[in-house]
Amino acid sequence: MQTRQQLYAQALRQVQSRRQKAVTLATRTMERAREEIPGLDALLRRQALAEAAAGRARLVGGPDEAKAAQDAAAQARAQLEQALSQAGIRPGDLHPAYTCPLCKDKGEYEGKTCRCVHLEARALRRRELSRISALELSRFDTFELDRYPDRFVPEYNCNPRENMAEILNYCKDYARRFSTRNPSLLMTGTAGLGKTHLALAIAGEVLERGADVIYLTARTFFDQMEREKYAPESDLSRIVQEAELLVLDDLGTEFVTNYTVSALYELVNTRMLRRLPTIYTTNIQKEDVLRARYTEKTASRLLGSCEVLDFYGTDQRRREK
Ligand SMILES: [Zn+2]
Repeated sequence: MQTRQQLYAQALRQVQSRRQKAVTLATRTMERAREEIPGLDALLRRQALAEAAAGRARLVGGPDEAKAAQDAAAQARAQLEQALSQAGIRPGDLHPAYTCPLCKDKGEYEGKTCRCVHLEARALRRRELSRISALELSRFDTFELDRYPDRFVPEYNCNPRENMAEILNYCKDYARRFSTRNPSLLMTGTAGLGKTHLALAIAGEVLERGADVIYLTARTFFDQMEREKYAPESDLSRIVQEAELLVLDDLGTEFVTNYTVSALYELVNTRMLRRLPTIYTTNIQKEDVLRARYTEKTASRLLGSCEVLDFYGTDQRRREK
């Protein structure tokens, strides 16, 4: 995944390349129009003057004068349009057709990054996330509660469907009111209970609300950290430390080393200090297993910084078959 800075640079390049295309196309059309329509410049000038005169008359002239100027402008326009249409050119094609009316595809509006660049950056991030996860499939409205047993299960000491309904509502609310003041979440439960689904549903909605979201499986994160061990200022560490929402999926399935355990501690700690929320999912349900795997220090920091959501039920994926 790209850092936020790289993402914005790419978004800006895309917006500016739209401008270049629009300008080039309009310039070419103008050249062709000049070749095919003798006297085009005179027609264009006449129309511009007539429009300006009509504008002036509307402001300062009497009603008759305004009407006459307006008619003259309409006539000049009609003449130009007729000449263009004989050459198969639409009048609008002589001017660049910018995608963004605010910044005219320059990427900057009133001294700030234009809205279109933010939208483009979000679309790029969404594409990145979709490539590596089931983002498009994992929405709140595709989450099926009726797959969870609707009866008290002594083993879980709860009714799994009611438990999931509560978690689902909590997650919807979490996404809907997302801000970086949101708490971090630790979703625990055995495999196939919909933890990734809900984490991605939150990610998708938070992304739509304009925040920068990063999704990584624990395996990818740890593998890459291990490879970038000697590059402390790696892109990856920046990406995971600065994302407004980070989803670290499937903690507990990765290969751990002393180094990756300390990398996890760094991650949990840095994001906690920066007050940036993280959603961790894990199939590790017992605290002592978590402590044994990631050390006491890391596990305490993780548990201490998260609200824990316990998922109960039977494997959803297995039931599908
Ligand atoms: Zn714009």
